[in-house]
Amino acid sequence: MKNILIIHTGGTISMLENKETGEVTTTNKHPLSNIAYHFKSYANVDENIAFKLPSPQITPKHMLELATIIDQKSAVYDGIVVTHGTDTLEETAYFLDQVVQTDKPVILTGAMRSSNEIGSDALYNLISSLRVAVENAASQKGVLVVMNDEIHTAANVTKTSTSNVATFQSPQYGPIGIITKDAIIFHHTIIARHTYPINNVTKNVFLLKAFAGMDGQLIEAVQQTEPDGLVIEGLGQGNLPKDTITPIQALIKQQIPVILVSRCYQGIVQPTYGYDGGGKQLKEMGVILANGLTGPKARIKLLIALEQQQHDHDTLTNIFAE
Ligand code: ASP
Repeated sequence: MKNILIIHTGGTISMLENKETGEVTTTNKHPLSNIAYHFKSYANVDENIAFKLPSPQITPKHMLELATIIDQKSAVYDGIVVTHGTDTLEETAYFLDQVVQTDKPVILTGAMRSSNEIGSDALYNLISSLRVAVENAASQKGVLVVMNDEIHTAANVTKTSTSNVATFQSPQYGPIGIITKDAIIFHHTIIARHTYPINNVTKNVFLLKAFAGMDGQLIEAVQQTEPDGLVIEGLGQGNLPKDTITPIQALIKQQIPVILVSRCYQGIVQPTYGYDGGGKQLKEMGVILANGLTGPKARIKLLIALEQQQHDHDTLTNIFAE
């Protein structure tokens, strides 16, 4: 039997519902540890509580701490399962995917309903994750997210519903595998994985979302904080209202990288339009178009790249094309 380490970080999967008030909160002991006998059929399991945080309180520094634990522990375990709140799970998954060095399975999971709620997906998702973590086919795939009978890559997965248990989806390409009662079936392969080890998280990168009628005020406000970088979720294929151009030019002149992704749910950004604020014009100005990432993940990627001292335009362009 394989040896798997479960690292708990908090979130609903680590919480219980108070039956009188309906409030969902963390408990001193992890609620799923009481029913750890379920794990025995799948693997030899050890558990470690890294944090007890609701995931809106998870920061990139916590993510780095987690990456360090995973790299250390993966030397002695066959695979790692991380339980995490679902709100920022995709950012932690992507951070780990970029930073963690191990090729062994690293699976993130969570729950939309705490352990004592009717229809809880907590134990089910944890068992599914263990089943994936012991599969040889789950190695060399980077960090995977297992929820609701599906296996997703960290790069593509996103939380799509506030409350539905089928919340995690990969809008661009779909899941890379499914979990059935009898089998773990991978039906897509991973093309390539690049990792960027870092020892600290010190950079200040902002994320803004474009909207109809947006002017330069927000970008100017960001500039006044002397940021290390800015990610903008642009419109459609990667366009912005024209009044944002002047403050963006000012940032680029100061060598502050500006990364453009789309606020659309699907698709990639492309330099198609040459009008004022169009993606072609933005690219020519020095804005870097990021392929297929959501705004929060592009921000994580820029934080990591800048920490590695990769700030010149061409290097960042290559990193964001990967
Ligand atoms: N608000 C919770 C969290 O992310 C939601 C969850 O875990 O599902 O911590």
